[in-house]
Amino acid sequence: MFNDSIFDAQNIELLRKKISQANNVVICVHVSPDGDAVGSATGLAAYLRQIGKNVIIIFPNQMPDFLKVVPSSHDHLRYDRSPEASDLMIKAADLIFCLDFNSKSRITDMGDKIAEAKAYKIMIDHHLDPDDLCDLVFSYPEMSSTCELVFRILWTMGEYDKLSFDTCKSLYIGMMTDTGELSYNSNRSEVFTTIAMLIEKGIDRDEVHNELFMNGTESRYRMQGHMLKDNLTLYPEFGAALQTLTKEEFKEYGCIKGDTEGNVNIPLSIKGINFSVFLREDTEKENTIRVSLRSLGDIKCNEISAACFNGGGHARASGGELHCSMEEAVEVFNKALIKFEDMLKAR
Ligand code: 5GP
Ligand code: MN
Repeated sequence: MFNDSIFDAQNIELLRKKISQANNVVICVHVSPDGDAVGSATGLAAYLRQIGKNVIIIFPNQMPDFLKVVPSSHDHLRYDRSPEASDLMIKAADLIFCLDFNSKSRITDMGDKIAEAKAYKIMIDHHLDPDDLCDLVFSYPEMSSTCELVFRILWTMGEYDKLSFDTCKSLYIGMMTDTGELSYNSNRSEVFTTIAMLIEKGIDRDEVHNELFMNGTESRYRMQGHMLKDNLTLYPEFGAALQTLTKEEFKEYGCIKGDTEGNVNIPLSIKGINFSVFLREDTEKENTIRVSLRSLGDIKCNEISAACFNGGGHARASGGELHCSMEEAVEVFNKALIKFEDMLKAR
């Protein structure tokens, strides 16, 4: 049990009212949906369907293969594949949930359609600085994940007893994937209270761990071996590490979407390395480098990403995007080390 409500009671009442008045609900999440995005969307959708709502989940683009274990995660529209059908659903919706993102720019071209929609819009998210896309905003950056926040909202609404196993499993998976299985962003006791309440609902931690993380492709580990051997550069004086992966290498190892997930974390296990960057050529978009940043301690990845990589995110886990060649991207990284030298060396 939680001690007290962290929410403004009026906002919870407003949410309750908007849900009860709605028939057609659209749930959207950020581009390249991760476990927290997929879990919060399917978890909330399962609850809303249970209470009789028509719910459509729209992902901006493809989700990684390993998230197929999230209950009903196949049941969604993809904006990049079905823009017309998605637009119709967005237009027909009377309630739209925006989950696990803080800004319209994080949902590609879908952003303008959501902004134009007449539906009432509710953002539930744990990134800093939400924009004004939504009418009602539940923004709690201290939360481990959007899934934890969705659980906490449903609990506060008095719906815990009603939550199905599928809702709980979806929310649990999001919490696990956004915290490296409770190894970061998870020091609040409420995180563990939440996990305990999900276990009470029948979640088997060992089983979910095996489904999620003991099911990888061979290509993923062959490619990882190659990256660690040939594509990892350490900058000990900055406590930094850089990994790269080109489109050609991705193809050479027969990789699929999701195979690079988590690679950026590995160098942080090396003694003295507190900042890790992974530059990966986008396989779908020309001249595009996806950037992932991770850190330990007080190194602010989101500041570095905003200043150098056109991105943002959390302090210790951020992303961004560059439109240039890999060589030029490495140059941008080198400049970032110099620009943030004081922050990197302070650790
Ligand atoms: P990842 O490295 O897994 O792609 O992203 C890590 C985190 O950084 C995400 O959970 C998200 O919060 C944030 N992020 C990733 N890409 C972007 C981006 O292009 N822009 C912004 N603002 N945040 C991003
Ligand atoms: Mn998240």
